[in-house]
Amino acid sequence: MSVPEAAGVRCPRCDLPMARQDFTTFYADLCETGCHGLWFDAGELQRVDRHGKGHGQALERALAIPPIASEIAARPRTCRACDEPMDEIGYELHQFVKIDECPGCEGVFVDAGELAILRQRPLTATEAAIARRIRRSRRARRARREEETRRERQLLISLMLLR
Ligand SMILES: [Zn+2]
Ligand SMILES: [Zn+2]
Repeated sequence: MSVPEAAGVRCPRCDLPMARQDFTTFYADLCETGCHGLWFDAGELQRVDRHGKGHGQALERALAIPPIASEIAARPRTCRACDEPMDEIGYELHQFVKIDECPGCEGVFVDAGELAILRQRPLTATEAAIARRIRRSRRARRARREEETRRERQLLISLMLLR
């Protein structure tokens, strides 16, 4: 099977070129020659984050990849597109799975084996409750930030009117 060339995506851990993988509804990038981590552009991981979501050979292959050694996992991660250090965050409902998110492009990097964990492990009642609270507080934070941006914009406009 021939896959299109990766559009210059490099592994945030190994800095090796990644191989484009056809996930049927989008392309992800695999660090084929290095750590076997997966790169998802903003919003793509959400299409395969639960058991039963997504299909196809590339997904099956990704789910079969065993977890990487902890010394490789411990390396610092940098988004090679934005040249920014990535944030290690708990993934949405699955706060027990740490993924790396770029604060610039919002792309995410998932270690080898993590996608399978994300998809298979059900949440306990406590985890689900905590995840709901996190979502609520994120929503509130976003609303506050939007309000601040709106206010700043108004102030800038009034400044320009004073000139
Ligand atoms: Zn890698
Ligand atoms: Zn980035």
